[in-house]
Amino acid sequence: MRDQLYINGEWVSPDLGGYLDVIDPATEQVLQRVAAGTEEDIDHAVRAARRAFDSDWGHTTGAQRAVWLEALADELQGSQDELATLEVHDNGKPLPEAQWDIGDAIACFRYYAGLARELDGRQDQPLALPDDRFRCRTRLEPIGVAGQIIPWNYPLLMAAWKVAPALAAGATVVLKPSELTPLTALELAGAADRIGLPAGVLNIVTGLGADAGSPLTLHPGVDKLAFTGSVPTGSKIMSAAASDIKNISLELGGKSAFIVFDDADVEAAVEWILFGIFWNQGQVCSATSRLLVQDNIAARLIERLVEETRKITLGQGLEPGVLLGPLVSRGQHEKVLGFVDQGVASGAKLLTGGKRPAHLSHGYFMEPAIFDEPAHNSIVWREEIFGPVLCVKRFKDEQQAVQMANASRFGLAAAVMSADPQRATRVANQLRAGIIWVNCSQPTFVEAPWGGMKHSGIGRELGQWGLDNYLEVKQVTEYVSDQPWGWYIK
Ligand code: NAD
Repeated sequence: MRDQLYINGEWVSPDLGGYLDVIDPATEQVLQRVAAGTEEDIDHAVRAARRAFDSDWGHTTGAQRAVWLEALADELQGSQDELATLEVHDNGKPLPEAQWDIGDAIACFRYYAGLARELDGRQDQPLALPDDRFRCRTRLEPIGVAGQIIPWNYPLLMAAWKVAPALAAGATVVLKPSELTPLTALELAGAADRIGLPAGVLNIVTGLGADAGSPLTLHPGVDKLAFTGSVPTGSKIMSAAASDIKNISLELGGKSAFIVFDDADVEAAVEWILFGIFWNQGQVCSATSRLLVQDNIAARLIERLVEETRKITLGQGLEPGVLLGPLVSRGQHEKVLGFVDQGVASGAKLLTGGKRPAHLSHGYFMEPAIFDEPAHNSIVWREEIFGPVLCVKRFKDEQQAVQMANASRFGLAAAVMSADPQRATRVANQLRAGIIWVNCSQPTFVEAPWGGMKHSGIGRELGQWGLDNYLEVKQVTEYVSDQPWGWYIK
């Protein structure tokens, strides 16, 4: 049991000595307590990260850092079963999903080990200039100390998406996990400790957003803020960053559309629609929560959707066959059920679900819900619910489908399903979102850029783009002519 902070390569008690309970959402029981970090702890962590950056770590080669990243991946791999089980208790997700997440987190560390090695070959690139009196080369240098704040829906995976590229680039890190799901991030610190990662390179400070997250965003020793979470918090973080001209990247919410044309295979569509909204209890930023169906297949498709939705097995995530666990917390449970009430009150037809299942009296469970034809301006059609709630509307033609999909303040993801590849390409190119899935929804690859347009965020994670978030580009321009410059002195 870890109830300490990991700062400067040591496990330390919080400065003010407070603790928070972590609840298992399937049982509503306290799983363990973790340290409630505050401004003082953040200050120690940022100073440690700065010292590490200014000493050896900031001068390591990519190849040297790759060895550390591989070692971290090996450590996580060695305890992947325990990590997956811990993730189930901490977050509520079904075990097969947790296993998938832990595997992806390990793969993320290995992938960025590869990019760290390649980075050495990208240094000191000559740049052709139109004036042969000068010679120019470019360098890619680590950004410094990164402050990283993550949400609760993919606890270890979100930590990996942030920590792996930062370390690959040569930055040092202070990571604040979500207060709801801090346990696997602390295990990541444990892995760093066991491999002997130099002190201060990775610091993990658990705590509340207001008490630990906010001081991290305001700390003058932080060069870069990387945030994943809700739009309102993202907006606060942008303001905090503005006051000190900090570099930021923001991965925020979504209300993504899934367009199904009448030439699509209905059974394949039903499968991907379910995966697009009920995976991870719908607590997915890129969940395709707005379904747009061409009107002539709508009745058949919706009937099959409701049929299959009712068959989804709910329960504690470690029980075999469970595909829908509890929502992450009491607050999230109340919030999502509140959205269902508002949907009903606004006149949308609730086709199935939306209530606590009769056989599960404990835990933050709810039956997956489908709303038919909510109004365009209703809250359930416009706002991110972040739970297992699908809203369906019909469209007549391609133009209307694109218009309805794009009529949102969010622009994280979208999906399109059609047997006509030309139409799918045409529609994909018109959708205003950072991630487009064709004939599927949700599969995510560490190689491909991740992030959104509009209120869904700023910047991209994963792939080369994820590494670039933690790199500064430097030019070194040299005067190589024998001739004097001759401006003032002729
Ligand atoms: P949240 O914004 O409530 O919290 C996210 C993190 O920010 C937590 O660690 C929290 O403690 C911290 N925080 C809260 N207030 C803060 C403050 N004032 N200053 C600094 N830090 C603060 O979000 P959440 O409920 O944890 O996560 C759900 C949201 O995350 C959804 O909107 C979802 O779409 C989004 N999300 C986006 C992506 C993406 O890649 N775009 C991925 C996962 C989740």
